[in-house]
Amino acid sequence: MDSKIIVSGMRPTGKIHLGNFFGALNNWLNLQNTHNCYFFVADLHALTTASDATENLTQNTLDMVVTWLASGLNPEKCTIFVQSHVPEVSELNTLLAMITPLGWLLRNPTYKEQLVEIFKKKYAGRLGDDKTAAEKLSMLTEKELSEIASFGFLGYPVLMATDILIHKATYVPVGQDQSAHLEITREIARRFNEQFNTDVLVEPKALFTKVPKVTGLDGRKMSKSYGNTIEVGEDIEVLRKKVMSMFTDPNKKRAADPANPEGCTVFTFHKLYNPGFEKRCQECRTGALGCVACKKELFEYMRPSFEDFNAKKQELLKNKTYLDKILKEGAEKARASAAKTLAEVKKAIRIY
Ligand code: SF4
Repeated sequence: MDSKIIVSGMRPTGKIHLGNFFGALNNWLNLQNTHNCYFFVADLHALTTASDATENLTQNTLDMVVTWLASGLNPEKCTIFVQSHVPEVSELNTLLAMITPLGWLLRNPTYKEQLVEIFKKKYAGRLGDDKTAAEKLSMLTEKELSEIASFGFLGYPVLMATDILIHKATYVPVGQDQSAHLEITREIARRFNEQFNTDVLVEPKALFTKVPKVTGLDGRKMSKSYGNTIEVGEDIEVLRKKVMSMFTDPNKKRAADPANPEGCTVFTFHKLYNPGFEKRCQECRTGALGCVACKKELFEYMRPSFEDFNAKKQELLKNKTYLDKILKEGAEKARASAAKTLAEVKKAIRIY
């Protein structure tokens, strides 16, 4: 195994859908075989945008770990832990917050976008969709802004940097459009090292991964807010209904009409689950394949992995002792790595 370190986390905001799976988790399954990986449930990050809705936080955290394990993440091969089980993270976060200029955080474009999203959830529909995030933000009153924007939310890029820097990550897996998110982590590491004349913090590099296109049932991006998702542990009958309801090429009115598979949601899933998808592509183009038959076949290709996942998940849910053990051991490993970096950081700052 390569000794290079990978750090990546997911917020426990509910069930994982196939967009999340193919966007991140599927990649983790490969990385655990080749790198020294730290994968964590980002429960503190969940608080940055939803500190007033923690009633499901414990369950969502456990659900996420079960989903990872049932999908094939192996605690023998990687370190799996919950962010808040590693208190060194919060201490380093405080120290890095001291050297991070406020302007970097206020300029962060994601801050504005997410602020608008939170506002929309609370006051549905008031901002409309035809404006930029900055324009929408300017429509909010001072009082509204102060009610939704917490200190922790503004500082979430520092917490994100902490998660990465505390394990001296060599790489952070990111999609092609997300490298800007990593830049502030690199800037914080650079600033710390320059300010304290040290090389304690390692600037991580982006590990670009090719993520397959996963559309929702209606052809738009798969997203909980669109209500168009397929969950990783979907019930088999629900899966069947969802597959049969998928958006297809609207030009194909009759079974024998030729169609364009590239504009069809069903076909994007054939590419992911059906090794013979190229043959189906040809048959769709010539009209040799009808949509109902095409969907039925897709369901049969998807079904085994869902059955396998659901069986593993049920086994894991029966064994809370095993889950606790994994998280305890994961936290111990993560704490050992984190404590080492934290001690070096404090020494560089001259904290006695
Ligand atoms: S035949 Fe299959 S790929 Fe072609 S439009 Fe119908 S569902 Fe989509």
